[in-house]
Amino acid sequence: MPDLQLICDTCKKPIEGASGYLWVDNDKVNTALADAAKWNRKHTIPEGEPLAGGQLFSGADLFDYPEAIQWQAHHHACDPNQDANAYSIQANRIDTWAELLDWTAHLMEKDWLNHTDWDELLRGVHGGTARLVICKETA
Ligand SMILES: [Zn+2]
Repeated sequence: MPDLQLICDTCKKPIEGASGYLWVDNDKVNTALADAAKWNRKHTIPEGEPLAGGQLFSGADLFDYPEAIQWQAHHHACDPNQDANAYSIQANRIDTWAELLDWTAHLMEKDWLNHTDWDELLRGVHGGTARLVICKETA
């Protein structure tokens, strides 16, 4: 009995079984990783140098920080970007709370996870605002 269901970004209908997936674009993630590394090099104060006590970063600096890459959900047929270099999770492999926890633990081992909006995805499950929502059929 599934607890959760993926909602397709294109047709807004639930994704049943193996008819679609949750995915993130690896190329975009790699770009965000590289940009973040560049940003960190530019903004890291060399070790041993005393902090001046002021603000470390200006607002404009933070604005430069690479944005989180969005996880997306699509039916195979609705995916506008089928050739993307995707990291994907088939819908029926992430339709229970236990599976969501397992995926989260697994993804936390990846150095790129915090460059994606997985945190937003988790927060949205309860409120029904994310791509992954609580199953309406569950009694
Ligand atoms: Zn769809």
